[in-house]
Amino acid sequence: MPDFLCFEQLKAASCSSIMTSGTPTTPAQGQALVIGAGFAGIAAATAMADRGLDVHILERHDIPGGRARVFEVDGFRFDMGPSWYWMPDVFESYFHRYGAQVHEEMDLRRLDPSYQVYFDDGPLQIPADFEAQQALFESIEAGAGANLAKFMDEAQRKYDIGMGSFVQRTAHSVMEFAQWSTLKDATQLTLFTSFSDHARKYFSHPKLLQLMEFPVLFLGAKPEKTPALYSLMNYADSRLGTWYPMGGMHEIVQAMVRVAQRKGVKFHYGQEVSEISTTGGKASGVRLANGRTWQADVVVAAADYHHVEQHLLPEQWRRYDAAYWDRRTMSPSSLLFYVGVSAEVPGLLHHNLFFDKPFGPHAATIYDSQRWPEDPLFYVSAPSKTDPVVAPEGSENLFFLIPLAPGLRDEPGMRDRYFDEMCERLAAHTGMDIRPHITYKRSFAHEEFESDYNAFKGNAYGLANTLRQTAFMKPKMRSKLPGLFFAGQLTTPGPGVPPSIISGEVAAREAEAFVKKQGPKARSVEPQAASVG
Ligand SMILES: Cc1cc2nc3c(=O)[nH]c(=O)nc-3n(C[C@H](O)[C@H](O)[C@H](O)COP(=O)(O)OP(=O)(O)OC[C@H]3O[C@@H](n4cnc5c(N)ncnc54)[C@H](O)[C@@H]3O)c2cc1C
Repeated sequence: MPDFLCFEQLKAASCSSIMTSGTPTTPAQGQALVIGAGFAGIAAATAMADRGLDVHILERHDIPGGRARVFEVDGFRFDMGPSWYWMPDVFESYFHRYGAQVHEEMDLRRLDPSYQVYFDDGPLQIPADFEAQQALFESIEAGAGANLAKFMDEAQRKYDIGMGSFVQRTAHSVMEFAQWSTLKDATQLTLFTSFSDHARKYFSHPKLLQLMEFPVLFLGAKPEKTPALYSLMNYADSRLGTWYPMGGMHEIVQAMVRVAQRKGVKFHYGQEVSEISTTGGKASGVRLANGRTWQADVVVAAADYHHVEQHLLPEQWRRYDAAYWDRRTMSPSSLLFYVGVSAEVPGLLHHNLFFDKPFGPHAATIYDSQRWPEDPLFYVSAPSKTDPVVAPEGSENLFFLIPLAPGLRDEPGMRDRYFDEMCERLAAHTGMDIRPHITYKRSFAHEEFESDYNAFKGNAYGLANTLRQTAFMKPKMRSKLPGLFFAGQLTTPGPGVPPSIISGEVAAREAEAFVKKQGPKARSVEPQAASVG
């Protein structure tokens, strides 16, 4: 499930100001390298190219997308990571900024119902229409329909403030938040109230509380530890809708790559960066695992922050040490299954959450005891319910996800045990055991997050959204090493597709300002022969 949503979603106006506020209008000249072709890297590269820089992206995989890669097998097309397209304004603004239209780049459909939740006594479908949502809430708890409107009005205010005055900040220091207007806004963000307490002011039925709390729980922390600020995620869910780009979520990546290429960004795949090079106390390029080197005036690292700082940077330039990272609360990792089924599964919708077991014990295994759960909650995406392209006719494309504590190790047989449990619960609710019809199955967990993305503790979504890890308390975008900037889900504003895109754009603004101040010096970004010794 979405792990996104911190302060994202730019309104059209605030989006455009991201790239212009405080930025000189003359184009920049110089050369930039970006490490990683995930959402953050592509967004950073596009923004810098748009401002005049010559930009090259170095990506270790052979396709772009990072955690949103795709693979095709036996007529199935599996999105490997994100499946929830939330905050459509962010995407609209992004493409618009570069002279493109999101609806021309992608065939977007709003899902209705938005999603379905299986409780132990059966499924609840969440309609796209807000009045229908209110009626549903009212049918579960008297007064909850009206309270939903109040809850969402308040959540919208947070969303507007978060997007308006917070999201554009690099969050280098607390002083950025110390202006009176921001402080005044901050009080409305209910940073110091827990999400859990906040939700209980409006609702008391356990089902409604679970509905309100699931985005927070899946995305990064227990509701008791998450600031009430994050109810802006509920606003995104309820009012802005759940969308889907036909062809799959990787279509977003493809559309962003097209836009980047139109702006002149050059993509280089199969390029594993092994070191950030420094000259005269500044970043001067990178060295690859194959020994080749690239030079540049500025480097934006959009691979996982921990990996870049702890493994690619000389120790003297690290702002954080191993103990710092060990103290971070990481968002969950996940056990994923990509499954091809040669029959249609009745009852499933595009998005299905299985909350047929209690929340508490599972959450405790993620955030307190860091153990494997007994009766996990899980999520099943069935994009073939919406999109004929992702599975052969009459077949189903299924994606299973169990959120898990980061840093776990699985033993032989463990993945199968969890898969069987999910199949049994799926069968209990839909009446169909999919196991005899499975034609393809692949699993993915901590080990693969580490090997594929260099992810610290195999995390899926970066840092948890706790108060101590919000805004200026996140790992900083600006490195201790001048000329190196970080982007991506581990820095501000946080995890999720929209925040990662915003992060790339904010880092690009910083990188561009750096190049302008320094003046271009790199002779060439073309790879140089390895200098041995
Ligand atoms: C299972 C899952 C489900 C999710 N669901 C949702 C969802 O529904 N909605 C949503 O909005 N978000 C979701 N997210 C979160 C979202 O996918 C991420 O926040 C976002 O994709 C992160 O983008 P990024 O650019 O920061 O990082 P990444 O996508 O990880 O990109 C980093 C890139 O750097 C590359 N790289 C790493 N090391 C090196 C190196 N040394 N040299 C060269 N390249 C390197 C990697 O290969 C990768 O391509 C989900 C994530 C996961 C894992």
